[in-house]
Amino acid sequence: MSGNRVEASRPGGIELTGDLPSGRIPGGPSARYGVRAGEPPWVSVARVTERHLGVVLAILFVPLNLRLAWLAGISYCIRMWAIEGVYHRYFSHRSFKAGRGAQLVLALIGLQSGQRGPLWWGAKHRDHHKFAETERDPHSPAAHSFTTAYFTWFRTRENALTNLDHIPDFARFPELRWLDRYYYVPFYACAALLFVAGHVGLLSPGIDGISALAWGFYVPSCLVLHSTSLINTLSHMPQVPGGFRRYECSDRSVNRPLLAILTLGAGWHNNHHRHAAAARAGFAWWECDPTYYVLRVMAAFRIIHDVKSTIPEEILREGGIETRKSVRQQA
Ligand SMILES: [Zn+2]
Ligand SMILES: [Zn+2]
Repeated sequence: MSGNRVEASRPGGIELTGDLPSGRIPGGPSARYGVRAGEPPWVSVARVTERHLGVVLAILFVPLNLRLAWLAGISYCIRMWAIEGVYHRYFSHRSFKAGRGAQLVLALIGLQSGQRGPLWWGAKHRDHHKFAETERDPHSPAAHSFTTAYFTWFRTRENALTNLDHIPDFARFPELRWLDRYYYVPFYACAALLFVAGHVGLLSPGIDGISALAWGFYVPSCLVLHSTSLINTLSHMPQVPGGFRRYECSDRSVNRPLLAILTLGAGWHNNHHRHAAAARAGFAWWECDPTYYVLRVMAAFRIIHDVKSTIPEEILREGGIETRKSVRQQA
């Protein structure tokens, strides 16, 4: 992680091109959005319990078949991309740009991750980078504990709050503030649509409403919750085997190839902490980053633009990654 750098701002919109968008932004809007009260802890407990109960009921009463496995897999990938491509790389780090309509659609996709709203998530994640491995890092396993970082951090009164002034560049949009407050409406509305689609036979002959809900909603949304928790913990625990630190950042971030596959690229976490402004987390050619590939396709269709793809040469060299330029220089 390298500082709280902001390179440019313009009227009506803030360009956060540094590693760490957060807090008071020089040149930012004078309007302050305040802190929004969080939901009581029992609501979080009820949400997580409901999701796990759905998984247990799915496993016990809805036999898995190939079609349902496909539905679960596709739904998992969409929800994982929602958290990594939308909440993380867009709302937290602004690593690409989108028009207001596209941004609204992105927010609606992001909400399918089932991890509260984009402003809450983005503000907490900016705190994670700014205060990495300190008491103010919401989910550092080093500063708190594994249990807190994995299971309970989001239930505390403080972490349930949304400090909209930590994300003023997006809090200025009323539609985003509404979606952030009522995050559960689009999430459960899509679950209802999935149920109806299964019920009327739109998905596949072998999938009815209940099985669509069980394997298309509860199982994948619960798995995505655990994938995010694995990033929050194992990707900041270098003492656990299976990862490597390419960069000696001031935090404890680790690259984990297996987690990168499971999380569509988020597992290249040490790379990400070294250069968080980039839209890509896989730096070497072999570091598979499906989230980034989808962003490139979206940019090719002009749905989004200004995707920050370039990793500076000095950062690649610092990580021992051979670039075309360095190969040319050696030749
Ligand atoms: Zn991290
Ligand atoms: Zn990040």
